[in-house]
This record gives sequence, structure tokens and C-alpha cells, in this order.
Amino acid sequence: MASQNAGKLQVAIVGGGIVGLITALGLLKRNIPVKIYEQASSFREIGAGVAFTANALQCMALVDPVIVDAVNAVATQNGQEGAPPNDYLRYHDGYNWDPNDIEGSDDKLLGLLYSGYKGFQGCHRAALLDELVKYIPSHAVEFRKRFTECKDRGPNERLLLQFSDGTSAEADLIIGCDGIKSKIRQLVLGPENPASYPYFTHKVAYRALIPMERVEPVIGAFKAYNQHMHTGPRAHILHFPVSGGKLLNVVAFAAEPADWPLGDPNGVRNMTSPATRADVAAVFQGWGPTVTKIISLLPDDIDKWAIFDTYDHPAPTYVRGRVCLAGDAAHAAAPHHGAGAGIGVEDGLALCTLLEQATATLSSQTNATTGAVVEAALQVYDAVRPPRSRWLVQSSRSVCDVYEWVHPETGEDWDKCLAEITARSHRLWYFDIDGMLKELRDGYESRFPP
Ligand code: FAD
Repeated sequence: MASQNAGKLQVAIVGGGIVGLITALGLLKRNIPVKIYEQASSFREIGAGVAFTANALQCMALVDPVIVDAVNAVATQNGQEGAPPNDYLRYHDGYNWDPNDIEGSDDKLLGLLYSGYKGFQGCHRAALLDELVKYIPSHAVEFRKRFTECKDRGPNERLLLQFSDGTSAEADLIIGCDGIKSKIRQLVLGPENPASYPYFTHKVAYRALIPMERVEPVIGAFKAYNQHMHTGPRAHILHFPVSGGKLLNVVAFAAEPADWPLGDPNGVRNMTSPATRADVAAVFQGWGPTVTKIISLLPDDIDKWAIFDTYDHPAPTYVRGRVCLAGDAAHAAAPHHGAGAGIGVEDGLALCTLLEQATATLSSQTNATTGAVVEAALQVYDAVRPPRSRWLVQSSRSVCDVYEWVHPETGEDWDKCLAEITARSHRLWYFDIDGMLKELRDGYESRFPP
């Protein structure tokens, strides 16, 4: 059994989704040994779109600039080919419609929101993952490693991770990036704690990628090549171009009164169920022509995604000893701000910053033990990160109510709705990254002065 030594930290990341990969890249960039343990047989993402806020891109650059290269390699900016870039989100009344709309479209433009330089560029998830993986050395990943439990063998020993295939591995700390049904969250909070599990929001998302050559003749180039949100009563539809404008990513959100059992919380049960274009058309019956046309373009068979989050029972802490949570494992949010992955990138930046400081302490202070240094770093992480990510979980629910005209303070008053969306989005987008880094560094140095 290897005992701890004064050498480099060995980090285990459980889960190789977007957040696990980005955090691993940041650690490798800082020469911190890391291994990703992923339950699947390869890195996998779904064929759907994801977009990043401008602040998430800035955090990526600080984690490791190659991440921004990966995003840029697959991102699609708003605007038709040859047109100037167009970093705006457009909100429409998708229900009542006005044939005299100023943009010549057939539903009323309610307002525009500037999303920042290259803000909200659409990426095809699987393509992005393929780009990120190019920068991960093979020695930093083990596939088919489904984490089951962790043995803490005392403060002077490394943690022992155990996997469902009976194998084990050692690490000085574990970062749980194992997503919405995180097993590591159960380890941190306890299996009896209701905060160890996500809960159904009673919202579902119908998602599809539609070839652009089918879309453009039906809704026109302006609608096809720019991001648009169609708001309305108790539902909404978002669409933006991905894959260099070859595909339109469409997500239609609707209420689902019935329950959606989580199933085996330790399992990998699919959180989707089959649906049809007719199901979506029934939800949006009576909506305006643009929404009706977009729905007519959906494939016959489509997946319905259950939206789970941690709103009902937020994790009271993201850390236990030398184990921590990042990304959806810590704070799964409904996707209505389009920022769940982005805020996970912020977690990754925070952890890389702190673990770089911890590594410096271990090489300069011979009396500092690995366990004490790691615990101090994670305590600072736990003091700094939760307030912002818990707010995202709450605000994602609220902003959905605004889009769907049922928020008690904004109702169907669109001036109030736009003001509310702007205030919430700006709180998210204009994040003081330098301020976070200073808070992290100061917090760590108050425990281990340089
Ligand atoms: P995941 O991507 O879920 O990765 C978890 C990984 O852990 C998986 O690879 C899994 O196989 C592995 N794993 C799980 N358990 C174990 C185990 N026991 N052992 C080993 N491995 C394990 N966010 C944005 O920023 N922008 C958007 O535009 C956006 N749009 C969205 C639209 C929809 C409809 C939805 C549902 C979400 C959206 N999000 C968006 C949120 C975003 O998808 C998530 O926040 C993000 O994917 C979470 O990444 P993650 O790495 O934390 O978790």
C-alpha cells in the first residue's frame, strides 16, 4: 500500500463529461498528475447543441487556452455566411403574432439581448467532445471504470477508489464530475440525504438537429442562422445554428404533469423517453406560424428529455475531506440559462487554481502534509463556489417562468419580462472572474501562507 509522500498530488476525476475533461486539461496544464475514471467505454456526448456564455469562454482560456481552440474549432457564430457577426439573443412572442414585424418575420420581436463577444455560439456536443479529447493523453484516462465507493484509510494514506469491475486506484483527492446522478454526491452527503439525488422539475425538453437545407426555405435565413427564443404560455422553443450552420439545434420545453421516477439512483437509466413530432405539435397547438413551421420540420420520432435539477434539495456542501463535487454533480440546474456546463467550467478553474497553490505549498513547505493541504484547498473551494452555482439552480427555474409568462412579478408584461431576463443574464455573464480568483488565492493563503 503506497503511503502519502511529499511528491506531487495525484488527482482522480470521476466522470469524463465536459466538466471532467476541462478540469483535467487545466490540471495537466499545471503539471498536476490526474487520471479520469469514466464508466463508459469511450468519451461520449449526445447529438445535440450546447452554447457557452462569454464568461465561460474567458474561464476556459484561463484553465487552458487549448479549450477555447477546441470550442472555436466547432462553434457556430450567429449570422449568415458573409454577414457581420451577430452576438444577440432574440426573444419573440411565439404565441401571438404580428405579420408586420420589423424584421419581416411572422412573430413579434419582443427584445434583443447582447450576449457578449462570441457569446452563446452553438456547438455540436459530440464534435466539441471530440476536439477536447485530442488534448487528453491516453495515460490520463481509464475507461469502463464505474466508481462505486471510496475508502478513507486515514490522514496519511491516499484515498482508495473502488470500481464496479473489482479494481481499485489511489489518489490524494477525488473530484466528482459524475453528472446529475452523481455517486460521489452520495459519498459527500450520505446516501440517506435527500440532497444526494436530483428531482424532476416537471419540465421536459424535446431536442432535435435539423439539416439546414430543410430549414432555411421554411423559416428564412435570418431565423435559421441566428439564435431565437420563442416565448409563450407554459412552453417555449429555442433554436440556434450548429456545425458551421449545417444543422439547426432545436429545443422545445414543455410542462410534464406526470411524475418521472428516477429509477435506480445508482444506475445509468436513460432519462429520455421516445416521443413523436405529433406530441410536440399537440403541446404547441395554436401557437404562431414560426413555431408551427419549426415543429413541422422535426423528425417523426424524437426524444423527450426529463429535466431534473437540485432545486428542491441543494447540496449543503460540495466537499467532504479530500473529496469534492464539480459541475452537474454539485449543482445540476435546469437548462433555461444555458449555463450548466459553463458554470462547471468555473468550478474547474477554481479547482485548478487552488490545486496549483497546494502543489506549490507541498514543494516549498516540507512540514505540510498532503492531506492538510488538500483539505485546506477544498475548504476554500467550498466557501467560494456554492453561492453562485446555487443561485444558477434557482434562477434557471425562475427565468423559465419568465419565458413562459407565469412568473408572478412579470406575468405577460413583456417590458418587465425583458428587464428580468436581462438582470438575471447579466448577473451570470458579467461574472467577476478576477474577483473569484483573488478570493480563492486569499482564502488559501490565509490557511497556508506562501
Ligand atoms: P456529464 O456531462 O453528465 O458527465 C458526467 C460523466 O460522468 C459521464 O461521462 C458519465 O458517464 C460519468 N459517470 C457517471 N457516473 C459515473 C461513475 N459512477 N463512475 C465513473 N463515471 C461516471 N449548459 C451550458 O453551459 N450551455 C447550454 O447551452 C446547455 N444546454 C443544455 C440543454 C439541455 C436540454 C440540457 C438538459 C442541459 C444543457 N446544459 C447546458 C447543461 C449541461 O449539459 C450540463 O451542465 C453539462 O453537460 C454537465 O457536464 P458534467 O461534466 O458535469 O456532467
